[in-house]
Amino acid sequence: MSDDLLVFRKKFSRGLVLVTLVFWLFTLIQLIGDSSEHGRWVLFITSVALIIDILAEHTKLFKEKIPWIILRLIELVSFSICFFVTLGSVNSMFFGIELISVMLQLLMLTDFLDVYSRAISLTTMTLPAIIYLILMLLIDPGEQAEFFGMVCAYLSLIFLVMLISALISEVLIATDKRIFELRRFSEQTKEANEALRNQQEKFRKANEELGFQKIKLETAYHKINSANTETQTLYQIIRYISTELEIGNLMKLITEAIFEAMGLDVCTIIIEPEIAGNEQVTYEIHTRLGKDFYERMSDRIEQGCIEEYMKAEGSYIDNEVQPGAYSFLMDHKVNSLLIVPLVREKKVIGALLCGHSQFEYFHENIMFFETVVVQLLVAIHNASLYSKMQQMAIRDSLTGIYNRGQLNVILEQYTKCAREQKKSLSVALLDIDFFKKINDTYGHLFGDEVIKMVASKMSEVAAYYHGIAARYGGEEFVIVIPDIEISDFYHIIISLKEAIDSTVLYFNEDEINVKVSVGISSYPETSRSCQQLLNRADGAMYYSKQNGRNSITVDNDIVQDYVRKNKETSGSCD
Ligand code: GH3
Ligand code: MG
Ligand code: MG
Repeated sequence: MSDDLLVFRKKFSRGLVLVTLVFWLFTLIQLIGDSSEHGRWVLFITSVALIIDILAEHTKLFKEKIPWIILRLIELVSFSICFFVTLGSVNSMFFGIELISVMLQLLMLTDFLDVYSRAISLTTMTLPAIIYLILMLLIDPGEQAEFFGMVCAYLSLIFLVMLISALISEVLIATDKRIFELRRFSEQTKEANEALRNQQEKFRKANEELGFQKIKLETAYHKINSANTETQTLYQIIRYISTELEIGNLMKLITEAIFEAMGLDVCTIIIEPEIAGNEQVTYEIHTRLGKDFYERMSDRIEQGCIEEYMKAEGSYIDNEVQPGAYSFLMDHKVNSLLIVPLVREKKVIGALLCGHSQFEYFHENIMFFETVVVQLLVAIHNASLYSKMQQMAIRDSLTGIYNRGQLNVILEQYTKCAREQKKSLSVALLDIDFFKKINDTYGHLFGDEVIKMVASKMSEVAAYYHGIAARYGGEEFVIVIPDIEISDFYHIIISLKEAIDSTVLYFNEDEINVKVSVGISSYPETSRSCQQLLNRADGAMYYSKQNGRNSITVDNDIVQDYVRKNKETSGSCD
């Protein structure tokens, strides 16, 4: 049974209870006015009908189909009889209504919406009564008019039932149709909703995909940007290398370029002594961590504290620097540390040290720093060659002291300085006595050793008095000391001569001492110009040679007159 039909049935059931109750009250009132047997009989029937209706409506006992049908059928028969009996009175109207209600109730048990099954059920229900009435109509001719009236009334009731059932079925069909349409609409809406949800899901996925793509693109962009910066920095470094040959300047430019390009907090290049001509450890620090940090790092580099991290095997990386782990970092905010060694012929000759405040900073970019170090090695090599070339141009290859060309340059500067500052400048020219004989006796190689020994003694004294030593010619040397008067200079030269004289050189079993002849001149006491200083020292040395060698002659006019005359005499003899 459909839900709508059930609703109708319930409504009819309640309606029937109500009608029966009204009818019962009506018969009760009737009975008070006229207590005939007929009245009592009708009250009994209505009372029983009321009880049955209430029981059928409200108790579980008659919720089962079979007892319910039996009850209704009893009602149907009772109401039919009562309808016929009371025909023409008000009671028959009530019984008629009761009869219609019961018929409709019974019809609802069948396929109510099907007109044929409704007709069959109705015929089945009413046929016995019709047959009975027709038979009575035929059998009892005296009462024909009464029976004909009954048949008509009964048929009218049946017609009314048919009409009401047709109406109900129309209403139900219309409702069903509406419900069907509503359901279809709801299903369509559901489908549309589903399609919308699918679209939304697709959009969400597409959005998600786009998000991933965006992240990927951002990462790629970041990488390209970093690679670009790195390439530019490398290009800049290569340019510096090709244009700048002085290693100090190069270190400054390169640290600055790396520092800025990579956003570091500290960038340092350290070069071990004797690389690229430097005598001490050379370093360049570029930092944004302040003066204290700079000073601490300089101090620790000079103490060699970083050397333990400069290993030929490869780079030292610490991406999670613990506070106080490195003495050279203090407790500043360097959280990632990279030290790339500069390795030349399997020997560590320096390092590139980089620090960043960010943890886990040195990963993919390590290659960049290692490439920089390769370039740095090229730069150091170039600078070293350049430095050597420079040294070769100004220094004597055998002794390492300045050559004659550089002597002239420096002496010029010294003279200018002495003149400007009104200070003294002293020069000594020194020639090894009988050197040819040493060469002839012990060979040129030993002669070279003698030259080197004299040069080294001169170099020591010059360095001590902040002057210079130079090789003037074959076995001739010059020492120049600024800001010293001739009398003091004389004593310095006496000490120097004594140091040379007392040095013993060995050739096999032989002990060899070399002697020197020296001439001294000084600005402003004896000479006025740079060239005069050398000429007059040469003259004084000549005087020593001419007067027994192995001596020191201080320049004066008498000495110069002697030299001139002597040279003139020897020139005219030639
Ligand atoms: P004097 O006492 O008068 O100075 O005599 P001397 O023999 O020292 O002077 P001389 O000018 O006659 O000889 C200088 C020699 O020095 C000639 C040259 O062969 C030699 N000589 C020049 N340069 C070098 C060098 O680099 N190595 C060597 N072993 N000998 C050199
Ligand atoms: Mg000579
Ligand atoms: Mg000589």
